[in-house]
Amino acid sequence: MTKDEVLKIREEFPILTRSVAGRPMIYLDNTATSQTPRRVVEEIDRIYTHEKANVHRGVHTLSQEMTDLQEHTRERIRRYINADSIEEVIFTRGTTEGINLVASSFGSRFKEGDEVILTVMEHHANIVPWQLLRDKTGIVLRVVDINDRGELDLDQYRSLFNERTVMASFCHVSNVLGTVNPVEEMTAYAHSKGVPVLIDGAQASPHMLIDVNAIGCDFYVFSSHKMYGPTGIGVLYGKKHLLEEMPPYQGGGEMIAKVTFEHTTFAELPFKFEAGTPDFVGIAAFSKAIDFIEEIGMENIAAHEHELLDYTTSQLVKIPELRIFGDAPHKSAVISFLVGHSHPYDVGMLLDKQGVEVRTGHHCAMPLMDRLDIPGTVRASFAIYNTIEEADSFITALRRAAAILS
Ligand code: PLP
Repeated sequence: MTKDEVLKIREEFPILTRSVAGRPMIYLDNTATSQTPRRVVEEIDRIYTHEKANVHRGVHTLSQEMTDLQEHTRERIRRYINADSIEEVIFTRGTTEGINLVASSFGSRFKEGDEVILTVMEHHANIVPWQLLRDKTGIVLRVVDINDRGELDLDQYRSLFNERTVMASFCHVSNVLGTVNPVEEMTAYAHSKGVPVLIDGAQASPHMLIDVNAIGCDFYVFSSHKMYGPTGIGVLYGKKHLLEEMPPYQGGGEMIAKVTFEHTTFAELPFKFEAGTPDFVGIAAFSKAIDFIEEIGMENIAAHEHELLDYTTSQLVKIPELRIFGDAPHKSAVISFLVGHSHPYDVGMLLDKQGVEVRTGHHCAMPLMDRLDIPGTVRASFAIYNTIEEADSFITALRRAAAILS
């Protein structure tokens, strides 16, 4: 992408012109959440102003228009991830709810002693739901380790499969290390053992093309707010035949066919898993975020973010005593690091005082921090609207912070 093209994109994000601590704000916390382009905000405003009516409930015009807007997004998402049908696209509140849904509903078939394979680089969202299931059913969690570069130990992964294995659940991209896992290969191996796969795509869906058919996974989950979309919306993709077999996750309106006090039958997919009034405004506006991504083109987004990653990494390694965690050859634009013995919070505070917004702490990956034997990291992460000039300002600010702390 040319500098002018990126500057044009930035015009859609008024927040990027604000200042922090009297300096131009540099937003490098995109892994936690990305900023939202004006077109998404305007769509939310337009819907609340002119369209709002509950979906799937009315014959009246407004309700039908609103339903069409929501279902339009479902079709956009289906195409975005190359799912076979809209019945395989379930709206959730986010990645976290998607994994809880699968652990609770699909996991209801698991028995004591059954084994679920996770990895040490998982976000808590892909650990705790399985622990809750373990506490209920007595399943056993098996954990794949990483090597020094922050890549999964695939030999160990393969060795963990046995006749008790019932599920493998792992991230597409690590939110701390940036490692892009070989999800196609891992899924194919699990399937060769008859084991279904869930992929946590929270950190992949904003940065690379997702093709659930090519990956072959059984479930794939992600969040809108990391993809330039509204908060509180997520997607669970599931293979139709599995979703059909699964019991509902929550009960209530929208997810039923017929209710009597004696017996209830459930709605068809995808509505069986969408109890209650969804955030139909946010869902409708999410389609504008998909427009934004597709207009730029995912190849262009990925290339620009990689340029930022490579440039910033090449400069950071020159800072004495700076340690980067995760240098897999196949890496997303996330840089986790520590400077000498400085606590990540101190580094983060000093960066904030210079207008640079980075995340510090355990990044909801405490087991990974334990594995790395560190309390946390400082994490800078990029999106399409970040510039090389911002990367330079970040590096200068970090040098200053490091000098103060040394
Ligand atoms: N999984 C990964 C890899 C993440 O990075 C995150 C959020 O940072 C989540 C899951 C949870 O996403 P959400 O809070 O949108 O449900």
